[in-house]
Amino acid sequence: MRLNISSLVGRKGAFFHVEKEFPADFMQGLPEVNQVRGPIRAKLRVTNTGEGYLVTGDLSLELELRCSRCLRPLKTILETSIEEEYLNRPPVEDEDPLWDEQPLVEGNELDTTSLIEESLLVSIPMKTVCQEDCPGLCPGCGAVLAEETCDCPDPTIDIRLAPLSKLLQQVSETTTPERRKDHGSSKEKTFKSKS
Ligand SMILES: [Zn+2]
Ligand SMILES: [Zn+2]
Repeated sequence: MRLNISSLVGRKGAFFHVEKEFPADFMQGLPEVNQVRGPIRAKLRVTNTGEGYLVTGDLSLELELRCSRCLRPLKTILETSIEEEYLNRPPVEDEDPLWDEQPLVEGNELDTTSLIEESLLVSIPMKTVCQEDCPGLCPGCGAVLAEETCDCPDPTIDIRLAPLSKLLQQVSETTTPERRKDHGSSKEKTFKSKS
């Protein structure tokens, strides 16, 4: 999205507010995104700082993500805020190298496309769940356990951990209370024979 700043040129301290909507096509096709449901809504303020133009404001976008556990679609509104200064000219060499990353004014316009897209992308949560206790998918048959039950042996045990849980069961069965009692004394003997 390009913002025209000609009304602010030469007027340090002057600002305007702008509200715009524009498509979020760049979000479509991301693995976390099931469907983009609305345009990006931007409420921005642009201020002439003397050295450039400061853009601040809020973004929101309605979309469907996928539950991290069961992959079902999940309506979400992404909300984030932005703040970036666009400089009139590139900073002089030998100054703070971070300044290289700052965008420049292009004629009488600011190109906010990458600023807005990157801010929305990083606001996508790493993990989203459809409900706090979503049981996810059955590791055996892939059934959505929040919606259906299946005939798999025990869908609550991760099949990769099943052999381990069997082993633990055997250990606890063979460890009798008497054995645990003289565990301490046998340790003492070992220590003595070593010294
Ligand atoms: Zn879920
Ligand atoms: Zn199953």
